[in-house]
Amino acid sequence: MSIPFNKPHITGNELACVEQAVRSGKLSGNGAFTKRCQEFFERRYGFKKCLLTASCTDALEMCAILAGVGAGDEVIVPGYTFVSTALAFVRQGANIVFADSRADHPNIDADAIEPLVTPRTRAIALVHYAGAACDMDAVTRVAEKHGLTVIEDAAQAVDSFHTGAANAAPRPLGGIGHLAAFSFHDTKNITCGEGGMLVVNDDRFIARSETVWEKGTNRAEFFRGNVGKYGWVDTGSSFLPSEIAAAFLWAQLERLDDIQTVRKAAWETYCEMFKPLADGGLFQAQAIPAYATNNAHTFYLVCNSQNERDGLIEHLKNNGIGAAFHYQSLHRSDYYKGRHDGRELKNCDMYSDCLVRLPLYYGLGKGDIERVRDAVAGYYRV
Ligand SMILES: *Cc1c(COP(=O)(O)O)cnc(C)c1O
Repeated sequence: MSIPFNKPHITGNELACVEQAVRSGKLSGNGAFTKRCQEFFERRYGFKKCLLTASCTDALEMCAILAGVGAGDEVIVPGYTFVSTALAFVRQGANIVFADSRADHPNIDADAIEPLVTPRTRAIALVHYAGAACDMDAVTRVAEKHGLTVIEDAAQAVDSFHTGAANAAPRPLGGIGHLAAFSFHDTKNITCGEGGMLVVNDDRFIARSETVWEKGTNRAEFFRGNVGKYGWVDTGSSFLPSEIAAAFLWAQLERLDDIQTVRKAAWETYCEMFKPLADGGLFQAQAIPAYATNNAHTFYLVCNSQNERDGLIEHLKNNGIGAAFHYQSLHRSDYYKGRHDGRELKNCDMYSDCLVRLPLYYGLGKGDIERVRDAVAGYYRV
């Protein structure tokens, strides 16, 4: 039996919820299931306002519009991230100024941000890689000093926290920046196939967020009875998912605690089994910064070279195990390299070349993880 890299978890209540949505006669967006999902996040994490979207990419595009990013503006983005974190702002005409990762973690190096700020800088869009918090105290300090909007790409960060300084109350990721975006793609902890969510934490953006969400119309105001008719009042797009997708998502949210408990147990097993190999200096094991919690989105290793990493992925594949590299540094991408200012981003490139993600999904058993461990040990001949 092969062990795939990812297997979307089905809780068992999805079809019943979808059937309920279908029978309700309301298939388009912003119905009962959409509201239930949004309220779940608002209540559980204290997010000020949540709006479901058809993808995290959609939610990031909404962030770019709401932050008022336009032609010639600069946005600071980590070089080591998925395309969407940068693309959402490029579509608004912005120039992306890529920042390097930390040496000890793929997340943005908070110390690398301030030297990149210019009078044109509008926003910082950062990513909580593998669901582990960026150094939000440091990021917030720079953003406040220069009046920048902070956007969290929390695509991988559901149910994860920034613990911050000693005795500080943990803050949920997605609830710290002015705006945030989550993903419910089927590679994420919670899924409805394709889906996402915008989080608005800053009051300045709340009223406009609904308009941008509903094709630039004041439809929400109309249904509240605040205006006599609704029409075109702003820019926007059709960012809403259908009730079918929201119903599916609700069946997952109902089981969030169970999903997280099971994933974290698998992650802990990986940690224990791989510790002797990492301690032996074969590769670096995944690090969780002191100010971050782990939400078991990913288990990854960092190899010593690209050749070694690519060989390991090939070796695992030959043993029926799915493993995957991750982002190609965006400043080296075909689309953007010509516009990059030429600065070298050493740590981004190192993670781009050397990081490998191992299988992690609900239902991955201890025996499976043993097999992965043995295959990795076999590659290193230990
Ligand atoms: C998955 C992911 C996205 C894209 O999410 P979609 O829902 O597929 O649009 C964006 N950013 C990061 C960091 C991701 O991991």
